[in-house]
Amino acid sequence: YLLLAIETSCDETSVAVVRNGREVLSNIISSQIDTHRQFGGVVPEIASRKHVESMTLIIEEALREAQVELPDIDGIAVTQGPGLIGALLVGVVAAKSLAMALDVPLIGTHHIAGHIYANHLVGDILYPAIALVVSGGHTEIVLLESEGKFRMIGRTRDDAVGEAYDKVARALRFPYPGGPYVDRLAQEATEEVVLPRSWLEPDSYDFSFSGLKSAVLAEINRSRMKGETPEFSALARGFQQSVIDVVTGKAIKAAKEFGARQMLLCGGVAANKGLRTKLTELCAEVGLPLLIPPNKLCTDNAAMIAAAADMKWRRKQFSSLDLKAEAVMSLEEWSV
Ligand code: ATP
Ligand code: MG
Ligand code: FE
Repeated sequence: YLLLAIETSCDETSVAVVRNGREVLSNIISSQIDTHRQFGGVVPEIASRKHVESMTLIIEEALREAQVELPDIDGIAVTQGPGLIGALLVGVVAAKSLAMALDVPLIGTHHIAGHIYANHLVGDILYPAIALVVSGGHTEIVLLESEGKFRMIGRTRDDAVGEAYDKVARALRFPYPGGPYVDRLAQEATEEVVLPRSWLEPDSYDFSFSGLKSAVLAEINRSRMKGETPEFSALARGFQQSVIDVVTGKAIKAAKEFGARQMLLCGGVAANKGLRTKLTELCAEVGLPLLIPPNKLCTDNAAMIAAAADMKWRRKQFSSLDLKAEAVMSLEEWSV
């Protein structure tokens, strides 16, 4: 069977055709980032308009690259939420139209379930598994008791990791989104300004990154007031090390506590080299198998949405045509 998936939760218009839930025939991603960069962040109204402009073209391109035609499609998956409501609506309307016209099932899909199940496109998932979700809008530790059963173990109380990276990057004068620049600078650094670790309460799997971000800004201001040039690379390194220590430390602790048989890393920040390396080392130390999708499947894409929707497809858990886009949406409630 062939699923056509649509993802428009933020600033990527993406359409994928996936065979039998795991074989990616096409995964077209059209990023709007060049448009949003000049504003230093994603402008919701512009994002919606751009999705409208590119949607039909991207659908056609996805079909062409997969070498299939619309009548071959057996089901439509779409990101229902969470995300920018206007952006989500464009994908949801397109998906409903296709499902109705082709008379095939529709599956409204949780965006973070997509990020997690991107891992199913690269390997078999062993349950129970712990997923470390690090993206532009989310930082979460999720327990997967079995396929498609999500339990939220911890989440950020303020900024998401990617958000903190982008804010620090802005202070270091990098263009938006600056996460990859901070990563590179941290890798190149020869020195490190040691910054605090926000472990929160000893038994908590929650995160907090706004204090760390403020610590970076305070260091920059302190240097400037003394008439010195701030050590950008040492600060980038200090920030990155603090983030990595805390997120990997908590993920490994959760894996032990819940008897995980596998660790899954996902979300846009999973592209971070320092994070990948550290988590790989820690998992090897405790003998825990680790899956990390390639970068193209870590950032927003529709193939991951098909991978998550497939769990519902196989269980015939379809959505009705009055499906609504949800800016805020519970992952646990989306469980199969
Ligand atoms: P969400 O999925 O939570 O709605 P999103 O989809 O906007 O958020 P992603 O596309 O998953 O987020 O990830 C984008 C984020 O990843 C940006 O904040 C970006 O700076 C960050 N990022 C990308 N590469 C790296 C890297 N190498 N190091 C650190 N951060 C990175
Ligand atoms: Mg994006
Ligand atoms: Fe995302």
